[in-house]
Amino acid sequence: RVAAAPQRLVWLFSMNDRKKRKPGFSTLSVHAGELRQKLGDALTDPIISSATYSFADTQAVIDYIEQKQTREEYGRYGNRGERVVEAKLAALDCGEDAVLFSSGMAAIVVLLMTRLNSGDEVVFFDECYHRSREFCSDHLSRFGVVTHQVSACDYAAMEDAITPSTRMLVSESPTNPHLSIVDLSNFAAIGKKHGVETLIDATLATPFNVQPLGHGVDYVLHSATKYLGGHNDLLAGVIVGSREKLEAVRYLRGIMGPVISPHSTYLLQRGLKTFDLRMRRHNENGLAVARFLEGHERVEKVLYPGLPSHQYYDIAQDTMEGYGGLLTFLVKDADWRQTADIVDAVQIPRIAPSLGGVESLIEQPLVISYFECTPEEREAYGIPDNMIRLSCGIEDSQDLIDDLRQALEK
Ligand SMILES: *Cc1c(COP(=O)(O)O)cnc(C)c1O
Repeated sequence: RVAAAPQRLVWLFSMNDRKKRKPGFSTLSVHAGELRQKLGDALTDPIISSATYSFADTQAVIDYIEQKQTREEYGRYGNRGERVVEAKLAALDCGEDAVLFSSGMAAIVVLLMTRLNSGDEVVFFDECYHRSREFCSDHLSRFGVVTHQVSACDYAAMEDAITPSTRMLVSESPTNPHLSIVDLSNFAAIGKKHGVETLIDATLATPFNVQPLGHGVDYVLHSATKYLGGHNDLLAGVIVGSREKLEAVRYLRGIMGPVISPHSTYLLQRGLKTFDLRMRRHNENGLAVARFLEGHERVEKVLYPGLPSHQYYDIAQDTMEGYGGLLTFLVKDADWRQTADIVDAVQIPRIAPSLGGVESLIEQPLVISYFECTPEEREAYGIPDNMIRLSCGIEDSQDLIDDLRQALEK
């Protein structure tokens, strides 16, 4: 009974009525999933900080168990505010259902634990988020799950790695920090051909820029900590997919307990109100800054899928609405210290891991994520000493460009 489908909330528009025009993305960001008339006649949804929910009498308990009444029971199984945000996120990704978690990692851990049994195999594209791969290779391995990694976007290698025990194909798109773009239709087709489920971590793209379910992918995952929340003030994760597939995921979440707090849920809902506006600015800033950097004499190379020089420019043009605020660049003839000097000289972006918030963030992958690796390991991960990753926030692009110019020319 903890796996009951979320209560269908009143929609502003009937999403399934094909005769009606589908509401626009920003209208959905503001209104999808929300009741028109709310508790206390408030315009905003309440933060329900209740660990448990009371029943009027014994008959009410029995009615709930016999599923005659949809309601909340206990905080680990769900919360009304969370169901509102789940419905909103499902609408944005054009999925039937969504399940929220306390973080992006909690989402991927619960999904993989739901689908994989001892002896099962999973195949990753090797640029996928390193903690996701680490969970599979170092931890699910303890329960008999076998992990294979193949080069990102090598579809033949991925297909070759599939055996009768393969249960899931996993990739991120775009990848981080190389921003490789997966051909989602191709990826989904390989899964369908072999009867293997597919998962795309689309955190960097967001549903504004790409909708993997529409390409036939089974599950789309987001760290809502990044663009969906958008303000660097909460941790959350979400998986979107079919109601049928997500039922078991929701059930295991109820047992494992990585639930999002009511307060974070509220912040996420509030952040989503401006999601469309923010993504337009992130896309604009990312492209403007990428073009500026590509033209600067101290820059050796810029990795940004919206630049014609990018390896996956064509597939990005075909499948994406925009290319986001994240970009990676290499400083010409610079060792790691000279690269760090540029990071230290910028005045607007803060030095921090993470991405997708309104504040620009800058980091040198060698220092922040790979400092304890050997040079050989860094080479294998494709992390040169002169690499800088920049997450463009929503500041004015000219200010970001002027700031980067003074840092590069210092
Ligand atoms: C941040 C991130 C995650 C992990 O999400 P958390 O919310 O930090 O747990 C997973 N995938 C990608 C691509 C990310 O950027």
